[in-house]
Amino acid sequence: MGDFPQNKFREPTLLLRIRGLIKDKEAKIKELESAKKELESVKKGLEVKVVNKTKELSKALNSAQEDKKKLKKQRLATLNILDDVSDSKEELEELNKRLKAKGSELSALKALSDDLTSVLDVEEVVVIANSYFDKFINFSTINYLIVNPAQESGIIHNTYCKKAVSEKYIRESEKHLINFLLMQKDESFKAAVKIIKNIEPKYYGIGLDNTKKSKPAGYEYYYLSINEKNLGVIQVVHTEKSQIGEDELSLVRAIVTTLSLSIDRLQTVILAQHSKTASLVESLTDGVIMFNDKEDIVLMNPAFSAYTGFSREYFNMTDLYHLLNKHGIQKMVKKALNKGETSHINEVVLVRHFYEMFITPVRDNKNQIVGGAIIFHDITFLKEIDRMKTEFVAVASHQLRTPLTAIKLFTDMMLRGETGKINKEQKEYLENVNESTERMVRLVNDLLNVTRIESGRLRVEPQEIEIKNLLKNIIAEAKPLALNRQQKIIFKDNSVSIPKVSLDQNLVRQVFHNLIINAIRYSPKRTGKISVVLSKDDKKTFTVAVHDNGIGIPKEAQKRIFEKFYRADNAIKSITEGTGLGLYVSKMIIESSGGKIWFESAKGKGTSFYVRMPIKGMEKKAGDRGLSIS
Ligand code: ADP
Repeated sequence: MGDFPQNKFREPTLLLRIRGLIKDKEAKIKELESAKKELESVKKGLEVKVVNKTKELSKALNSAQEDKKKLKKQRLATLNILDDVSDSKEELEELNKRLKAKGSELSALKALSDDLTSVLDVEEVVVIANSYFDKFINFSTINYLIVNPAQESGIIHNTYCKKAVSEKYIRESEKHLINFLLMQKDESFKAAVKIIKNIEPKYYGIGLDNTKKSKPAGYEYYYLSINEKNLGVIQVVHTEKSQIGEDELSLVRAIVTTLSLSIDRLQTVILAQHSKTASLVESLTDGVIMFNDKEDIVLMNPAFSAYTGFSREYFNMTDLYHLLNKHGIQKMVKKALNKGETSHINEVVLVRHFYEMFITPVRDNKNQIVGGAIIFHDITFLKEIDRMKTEFVAVASHQLRTPLTAIKLFTDMMLRGETGKINKEQKEYLENVNESTERMVRLVNDLLNVTRIESGRLRVEPQEIEIKNLLKNIIAEAKPLALNRQQKIIFKDNSVSIPKVSLDQNLVRQVFHNLIINAIRYSPKRTGKISVVLSKDDKKTFTVAVHDNGIGIPKEAQKRIFEKFYRADNAIKSITEGTGLGLYVSKMIIESSGGKIWFESAKGKGTSFYVRMPIKGMEKKAGDRGLSIS
């Protein structure tokens, strides 16, 4: 709107006022219009905002809905997870159980191999394995067949019974085992069949019970093997068809492997030891025969073959018994096997050689007798030396006796005054010479007797005699010596009617004379008491005892007292002269007549000698020499 020009129109004040009002109105309109415009723009702005907000809201709504969906999904997933978790808990429990079982299996196996490390015997390994099988698995019996390289064709055949079963049950399982073995390629299994057919297995566990009716219903076989080398077979027998369960199977296999390892280790050690022992025995210069508990020869060393010319293939124990018939070898072998006793024979003759022979039991590491050994020690050379020595002593003694007899004869003559008067001093000297000569004669006679007995040339001439009278005579002869020493000597006859006995008087006299003289000499002067007691034991034997209260025989000397020339220290001190031959000769005489001589003694307390003789007496023996009596 434009302004009116003021010079053309001069209107009144109202107009002016109207005009002013219009102007105001127009201004107001303008104001309103601009306000409207403003409002419109505000409205527009608001509308945009609303649109935007709406957009935002719908967006938010959308995402909220999505979130909800997601949440729903998540919830589902969570639920699934929860389900899974409960499932895996069960699985975990199962796993845990299996782990625990594996753990105890492992600790059992560890214990088993620990148990087995210190064992030195295959048999014992089997016993230990049994205890583990028994603890962990179900079965009725287990049969072991272990091929044992330490013994030629030797095997171990064992049966362990967890349940009581009958013998029939065992036989049936054995048949099954044999069939199984026969089907194997391994030759050693086939060879084992022959052996197990003949031997009874060793039983362990519960004993057999023939009232049990159960029959074997299921069999399982496990090979004991290492690096494709077969050591044996284990047969597990069940009374029911059910077999070892899946979970037990791994343990059984593990036990079998541990067992195989252990047996292989042992067999290697045993083989090494065996070959060491065998080569030792092979290289011995003594002849050796080893036999098992069935009296079969298991080893014959080259020395024995060389000595005798016998070879292993053509020689058995019966041949040996036959060859050494008179020595009663079989009895000694039985004694070694049944009682574990060692026997010794001083001298046997085999193919023109002399042997000292020992028969001794052989034990395993559990001290069980598994056989024995016969050792032949060649003494031919020693015998020859001994013979030469005996001959020398015989000749020397004989040569000595002649001059001694002459000395004795002449001193006797001089003492009797046949060569002129002798003074007191001369008499004393001559008596001394005489006494010494007598001692020399005694010694020479003793030596001669020894050589005669040892060379087997002594003749035995038994006569029916009254033993009581013989003893009385010997006592009467010894009495002067006892009286001289102011000792008491008595004879006690406890024999009720001993018939006359067929004895070589000279020989028996020599024995009792020696025992009685010893009793007198080794008992104290004045307080010495000697008693000779004759008694009948039974229908077969009589015994003569010679008791004294003398110096006794010291413990350390007791086992040597019958040796040639042996004298105990206390005897040498109390009686200087003595030969140590009397008891040796006595023992030879008594033992060669089927009698026995022994003693009881304590140092300082006295001694009792006993001689037991058969009433049937001595056997006659031809020989070119009698005994030299002093
Ligand atoms: P000797 O009597 O000549 O020494 P023997 O062979 O008769 O020889 O005896 C051997 C040994 O036995 C004696 O030296 C002595 O040590 C012991 N002896 C024998 N008889 C007795 C006895 N009655 N008392 C103590 N010791 C004895």
